[in-house]
Amino acid sequence: MNTIANANLFSRLFDGLDEPGRLAIEELDGARISYADLIARAGQMANVLVARGVKVGDRVAAQTEKSVAALVLYLATVRAGAVYLPLNTAYTLNELEYFIGDAEPSLVVCDPAKAEGIGKIAAKVGAKVETLGADGKGSLTEAAAKASPEFTTVPRGNDDLAAILYTSGTTGRSKGAMLSHDNLASNSLSLVGYWGFTKDDVLIHALPIYHTHGLFVASNVTLFARASMIFLPKFDPDLIIKLMARATALMGVPTFYTRLLQHPGLSKESTRHMRLFISGSAPLLADTHREWSARTGHAVLERYGMTETNMNTSNPYDGERVPGAVGFPLPGVSVRVTDPESGKELARDEIGMIEVKGPNVFKGYWRMPDKTRSEFRDDGFFITGDLGKIDDKGYVHIVGRGKDLVISGGFNVYPKEIESEIDAMPGVVESAVIGVPHADFGEGVTAVVVCNKGAAVTEASVLKALDGRLAKFKMPKRVFVVDELPRNAMGKVQKNILRDTYAKIFAK
Ligand code: AMP
Repeated sequence: MNTIANANLFSRLFDGLDEPGRLAIEELDGARISYADLIARAGQMANVLVARGVKVGDRVAAQTEKSVAALVLYLATVRAGAVYLPLNTAYTLNELEYFIGDAEPSLVVCDPAKAEGIGKIAAKVGAKVETLGADGKGSLTEAAAKASPEFTTVPRGNDDLAAILYTSGTTGRSKGAMLSHDNLASNSLSLVGYWGFTKDDVLIHALPIYHTHGLFVASNVTLFARASMIFLPKFDPDLIIKLMARATALMGVPTFYTRLLQHPGLSKESTRHMRLFISGSAPLLADTHREWSARTGHAVLERYGMTETNMNTSNPYDGERVPGAVGFPLPGVSVRVTDPESGKELARDEIGMIEVKGPNVFKGYWRMPDKTRSEFRDDGFFITGDLGKIDDKGYVHIVGRGKDLVISGGFNVYPKEIESEIDAMPGVVESAVIGVPHADFGEGVTAVVVCNKGAAVTEASVLKALDGRLAKFKMPKRVFVVDELPRNAMGKVQKNILRDTYAKIFAK
């Protein structure tokens, strides 16, 4: 095993491991992978990567279903000093062509069923292709099984790249966020402390591992704490309810919580063994927070982060977890709210652009120096694109993405304010407020509302309920009642899809 002290995330994760036999990962089929097994498997795979020509600093792109082998590929890539580039499993060949062309990996790992199509794209940038299926089988693991587990972890500096994660890019092309070894290690270590993770924790890992939440927050935090995780291929409410009897923590997107609330098995009793429920990646409705507390006796701990910055803020472990707030800046992270135009810092409770600075913040966008420059202030703060405020107790609140701000008749309308009013109405489950092109107002405020089955919620009833509660310029000009809101895999409401759907409603 490697003993060189260096800033490589792999070394920081595993050097000095005192109980190699401890359980790291448990799979549904009963397979149990110890810390020593994980390190050995990462060694085998790192040897395969090197044998395939992967050099220090090269990108290894992976579009693979969730499996322990896929997690090992991430660890092995980092260990070999290369840069891990996970790709959403939903991406089509057309989309992959952009990512592979842009990142120019030297190796692409994909499902055996996709090897032919991806092979053609990979060939254009001279990348080799290996396969890895959902069952963990493929050319990559076949070769790894024959390789030596001995591998000397490649020394890396704090600022050297460990991963590139492409942002989901709902406007324009998605950008590759360059994350360093220290970005990842420092953030996970800080979360271990903030959330009180110890070796006694058992995390239910039900998130995808192509995204920062499941790959870094869930996996790195567990491994740094020497805890263990139960690795689920996907979110499965029945299974999660059962597993809670012997687990201690769950990390989820808000939809996990709304869906678990629909499960009759969710109760104080079924969650008795659990220590912590964490939510992030999208806003958790205050109502969901309250319902969860009432049903289980646990207050969900909401935190806020993004691909570019890792985690920025978190509600406290000890202390009030405020529904609708994302908590305090993590240790070492500075958060401020500024006027989006001038960049001037705003007073408490004023809504503006959220900016962050700290060891968690990425190194810039891959091959986009101009874009990188324009997203940072001169004093090093990153402009997140999220609008929000800091209240008088220091809790950060997010009111939405800057690009979702509605400007109607020259006035700023913050969707969250109107959504909160609508969500509080009887019979309403949730809502999304968008701006739609309008000849007179520039944008017309439009509300899309989901209600409980059988609830008598209509456009007229919503408008009546809002009348007198909101300034006229904030009042929706139209309200649409729908069955559900479009969401991506991380539970984010896709307002760009709603804007397209309703684009012509005010056309003359
Ligand atoms: P991603 O890069 O996919 O992780 O998306 C990051 C974005 O998700 C942030 O910029 C926020 O807009 C949103 N987000 C993450 N966590 C939260 C949260 N707890 N509440 C509200 N929005 C969130």
